[in-house]
Amino acid sequence: MEEQPQIVQPKPRHHWFRIILITLLIVTSLATIGCFAARTEFDKHVKEKAEGTAESFCETDDKEAPEITLNGNGAITLKVGEEYEELGATAIDSCEEVEVVISGTVDIEKEGTYKLTYSSMDSLQNASKKERVVTVVPKYSGTIYLTFDDGPWTNTGALLDMLKKYDVKVTFFVTGNGDDSIIKREYDEGHTVALHTWSHDYSYVYASIENYFADLARIQERVKRITGYTATLIRFPGGSSNTVSRRYDGGTRIMTRLVQEVTNRGYTYFDWNISSGDAGSTTDPYVVYTNVIDNLQPGGEYIVLQHDSKNYSISAVESIIQFGLKNGFKFERLTATSPTMHHRVNN
Ligand SMILES: [Zn+2]
Repeated sequence: MEEQPQIVQPKPRHHWFRIILITLLIVTSLATIGCFAARTEFDKHVKEKAEGTAESFCETDDKEAPEITLNGNGAITLKVGEEYEELGATAIDSCEEVEVVISGTVDIEKEGTYKLTYSSMDSLQNASKKERVVTVVPKYSGTIYLTFDDGPWTNTGALLDMLKKYDVKVTFFVTGNGDDSIIKREYDEGHTVALHTWSHDYSYVYASIENYFADLARIQERVKRITGYTATLIRFPGGSSNTVSRRYDGGTRIMTRLVQEVTNRGYTYFDWNISSGDAGSTTDPYVVYTNVIDNLQPGGEYIVLQHDSKNYSISAVESIIQFGLKNGFKFERLTATSPTMHHRVNN
């Protein structure tokens, strides 16, 4: 007798993130399919049994467990949401037809490593087992670098608490604002403390190369005093593509010169490729959230611009992290070897 595997397949998904469990507690009996050699062995015993020669052996002396052969690969990798197709297994016993019992659970909506166990036992309780490992990997992978400018600010501490909860590391482009204790926490808790200028005063920092570097040195010294570390990652106020500098540089195209000069002096500057819009276009945390997540593509690398000086922007961060993690993104802090996402310089 052959029973077909009864696999409980997921119902149609109406929502991509709906959790669907495929629970396998299934009996398959495919005892006579598969291994030709074993089949031959089985036939031989059937023949012997018919002749009375193997009768006592199979009824009392058989010590051999059924031999299980997995149909398909012993290791299967699926992306989150892909369907798992149970291919079953074949068991051959030298004395009788045997069943394969499959046990285990695969949650195709959740990353992880799952084991399915295939067991078979003959009537003398000789048992054998095989395992199939199903690995569910993210639907797509990518990296999100959350960055926060203009702080520290009053709610930066609350942001740090939340980041700790998710073990997410980010980058703070700090200024002369806020408490030293927050910069200390940022550093001690594994985030990147980077430089944004001390004053953030466009009319001062973009009036001359000398002013810019004097202001940068001031914030660099602050970070050094608090953390003991010399920060060399920077972000220009307004980004490297800013045009506000035209108002103050006397027509000297200061950004064109600065991007070169900071590099000459050993700094690495970062722009961004996703703006959260928190610096003007919205004050709504939900809009900040959608401005970020709507721009994420599978496998992409993103530097997200936010400001910890904006409480409504901080309010959106937890949802952004939850969305990113659920969709296979890693969150990382910027380092000297991270993508820089340089903008086109406009001045
Ligand atoms: Zn800024």
